[in-house]
Amino acid sequence: ADKDWMTKAAGLGLKLTSGTMNSLFSKLGEPVIREAMGRAMKILGKQFVVGETLSSAMKAAKLWEEKGFRFSYDMLGEGARTGQDAQRYFDAYAGALHDVGAKEQDKISKTPAGISVKLSALHPRYELSQSDRCVPELTNRLIELCGIAAQYNIGLTVDAEEVARLDTSLRIIENICLQDSFKNWQGFGLAVQAYQKGATAVLDHIITLARTYDRHFQVRLVKGAYWDTEIKHAQVEGLADYPVLTRKSNTDLSYLACAQKMLQNRDVLYPMFGTHNAHTVASIIKMAGPDLKGFEFQKLFGMGDALFNQIIKDHDLGVCVYAPVGPYEDLLPYLVRRMLENGANSSFVNQIYNAEFDPAEIAFDPVKKSQDNEVKHHPKIPLPKNLYGSQRQNSKGIDLNDHDTIKTLTNEMAQNFAQKKYQAASLIGGKSIQTGTEYKHTSPANQNDTVGRIYDLPFSEVSNVFKTAKTGHKIWSQIPAAQRADILRKIADLLEENETELISLCAREAGRTITDAYHEVREAVDFCRYYAALGEKEFDESGISLPSPTGERNIYTLQSRGIFVCISPWNFPIAIFTGQIVAALMAGNAVIAKPAEQTSILGHFVIQLMHQAGVQPEALTLTIGDGQLGALLCEHDDVAGVAFTGSTDVAKSINRTLAAKEGAIGKLIAETGGQNAFIVDSSALTEQVVDDVVQSAFGSAGQRCSAARILYIQDDVADKTIHMLQGAMRELRLGNPADISSDIGPLIDEQAYLNIQQHKTRLEGFGRKIAQTPLDDQLIKRGHYFAPIAYEIEGLEFLTEEVFGPVLHVIRYKADEIDRVIDEINNSGYGLTFGVHSRIESFIEKLTSSIECGNVYVNRGTIGAVVGVQPFGGRGLSGTGPKAGGPQYLQAFATEKVVSTDTTAAGGNASLVMISE
Ligand code: FAD
Ligand code: NAD
Repeated sequence: ADKDWMTKAAGLGLKLTSGTMNSLFSKLGEPVIREAMGRAMKILGKQFVVGETLSSAMKAAKLWEEKGFRFSYDMLGEGARTGQDAQRYFDAYAGALHDVGAKEQDKISKTPAGISVKLSALHPRYELSQSDRCVPELTNRLIELCGIAAQYNIGLTVDAEEVARLDTSLRIIENICLQDSFKNWQGFGLAVQAYQKGATAVLDHIITLARTYDRHFQVRLVKGAYWDTEIKHAQVEGLADYPVLTRKSNTDLSYLACAQKMLQNRDVLYPMFGTHNAHTVASIIKMAGPDLKGFEFQKLFGMGDALFNQIIKDHDLGVCVYAPVGPYEDLLPYLVRRMLENGANSSFVNQIYNAEFDPAEIAFDPVKKSQDNEVKHHPKIPLPKNLYGSQRQNSKGIDLNDHDTIKTLTNEMAQNFAQKKYQAASLIGGKSIQTGTEYKHTSPANQNDTVGRIYDLPFSEVSNVFKTAKTGHKIWSQIPAAQRADILRKIADLLEENETELISLCAREAGRTITDAYHEVREAVDFCRYYAALGEKEFDESGISLPSPTGERNIYTLQSRGIFVCISPWNFPIAIFTGQIVAALMAGNAVIAKPAEQTSILGHFVIQLMHQAGVQPEALTLTIGDGQLGALLCEHDDVAGVAFTGSTDVAKSINRTLAAKEGAIGKLIAETGGQNAFIVDSSALTEQVVDDVVQSAFGSAGQRCSAARILYIQDDVADKTIHMLQGAMRELRLGNPADISSDIGPLIDEQAYLNIQQHKTRLEGFGRKIAQTPLDDQLIKRGHYFAPIAYEIEGLEFLTEEVFGPVLHVIRYKADEIDRVIDEINNSGYGLTFGVHSRIESFIEKLTSSIECGNVYVNRGTIGAVVGVQPFGGRGLSGTGPKAGGPQYLQAFATEKVVSTDTTAAGGNASLVMISE
């Protein structure tokens, strides 16, 4: 039966490609296709979902129960994004427990049913960073649910979710364990994933808990359903290693090791083995010995029927069916997980129906296979640090989902750096210039926190700056490219070594949260390593030998331009600041760097690391000052080019300055603002939309050039989406950025605060406020905190410029207005980032090809571009390009040279005449 369904499912998947869909649409018409797809979904749904409501599910289960199966019901749905969602799921679980419990009382059954619970459904912020809030709240909710389950003496099992949630889940489970009222109830359980490297340690912990508190747990052992997600997460975050095993046979082996431990501890555990793998089942039966008591097998509804019918026939063993219940509209993610599981090459249920597989191969012995594998990890899944192969090392991540890591990081920040006072002055030839105006620099997050003192560069020093840079260029440009690349790599290493201090300083001076600040450091590191790898090839002194006529040699090389002025904004005070400078340096230029005045201390810190790494102090000058100093630097005759990131107006003014100055014609590389939009159609998954929009619009308090400013939402789903958005925005936490629980820090300064306040006042005139994040009054007194807001507006024409803060503008559109929406976005003149959320390929294709912008994101957020992976930069009002972190970037800092040599001797072409026949 599984095979039939898989064939249908696979067939359905294939037919969902845009070409086939388009042709079907045109031949049959949309209503017919919609009807057909609806029915197909229902057929698939029926296979894997026991019923749309609990009562229908319990009715359907009757037939199975008569055959000896018991049921554990699971309420389908995505995790809660809002407090309301969580309450709804809680009510559903509570209702289900009462219904199942009442039914169990009526029947004399040795196989009582139970409920499986996902903690992510019971809290919108079930995350380690929010554990001060979610642990007590989830504990209370779970106590209430357990109370009902205990009252009827039925089972309640907590599902295992992503590894990132493990620490938090174990704390909640321990809290349940401490409840004396549950002492005599043996129905409490949890799932443990064998693919986790810590699986046996988790079991040891559970066994210790049970023995310490004299409890009896039900433990469901599964291999794990989020394997691909875990692998991706670890790669994206640059973690030291994967939290899950990377070879299937290792997971099978881990499963057996866990099973053995569980069987040996049956006095305190009731093992429930969730698997459809016949070899795993057979191994457990063998391992359990003659005494097949005190444990059971579990299977998912719609899977493994043949296997377990046989097991029940052959052995007196309990089998429990994990039975999802829910309306078909909540089906998709669950169905996708089942499709992936059933369709995976390594999956037992896939192989068993494939005649090409040798039975011995399907029922392999995991012990032997693991021993035989010389390399224990999967050779095709490199460690996250080796993601980019031999080209460069990935930047090191910090596992912010690990309790100990967070504790060490925040303790070190608090003890060593939170009170530290810094000084920032210009560095000319390495010499600190402290003759200019001195002022106190306070944190935007806390006006009582003096981060340090700053000395502006007196304008009279500008000529000295250029004199030094000229000398610096002579020295630096002579250093071979390979050596310059090594210095860049050294800078990367130093950034990583100083990561904790950089994160602390970034939180204090720039108001960046820990998560933002840590990603800043990673991006800076990636820039160094990426440009080093690119530059040592492109700037190799031997150059490229061009195809030439005989008797001639033509060598093409890239060379430095001279002196580059690098001016950066405060909103990426480490990453963009570093990226511009190291690119210019890699190309052999001397650099005069000017960080934004708001983040001068970070600029000073990073430049010192660069000097320490080996950049000649003369070749890298730090200038401290505001826009006036920036303007003065740009107008100097000796400027060969300016790398600028900041507002569009300033970029235009620099452009005019460069055009007007004497000396070489200056090159401008400008990255500027955006008017970034999302378009969401009615097929999109609302939860995913809300996650991505909230993160993209309000992360970093909306102070990212890539931040989403506008959400176009199809009328049909607008109310539902806005409703969820409101709830999700209520759950965001503003607070001290150095506190791990803060999602959002302050705006950078008072001016930024006033600008957003002014925009909000304007919005009152033409928009309708739909949502706002709560903000504690104490915070407003402490720093420049501004609560994220969302307003519904009629159209984009109401927004004339970039609004650089946590403000989202929501615009409804009708499906047939999509062309107008595209024009509206393109006519804004900006072209930085754009996001589309849809499950219709043709719609995605239409938008990705017609929106005129630099970075398009499909079914994900619009922020967080990764160096070399998502080269970043816009067009039109958003910048000149080339893209930072992209293959063309370094060339913009270079000039080209071709040396053509006539290689013929006077009177003849020796190489030609010497040619053999
Ligand atoms: P097999 O084909 O033997 O194993 C497939 C599994 O092997 C994959 O799912 C994966 O875990 C693992 N795997 C595949 N490739 C690799 C690789 N390259 N390296 C390492 N490991 C690999 N899952 C949860 O996460 N949480 C739960 O709470 C949960 N509850 C469940 C309850 C029940 C009753 C059942 C039956 C399943 C539950 N699952 C849960 C899903 C479960 O994780 C999968 O069904 C299970 O992994 C499939 O394993 P198998 O033994 O049936 O199949
Ligand atoms: P800003 O333009 O005010 O300042 C940027 C830098 O330019 C600062 O160092 C400032 O001192 C300097 N400056 C100001 N006036 C100058 C002048 N006349 N001549 C030379 N330099 C001058 O921008 P900001 O407020 O620091 O940063 C926010 C802006 O940056 C937003 O518009 C944002 O979209 C943009 N930004 C763009 C990107 C991108 O990659 N496209 C990235 C980050 C920020």
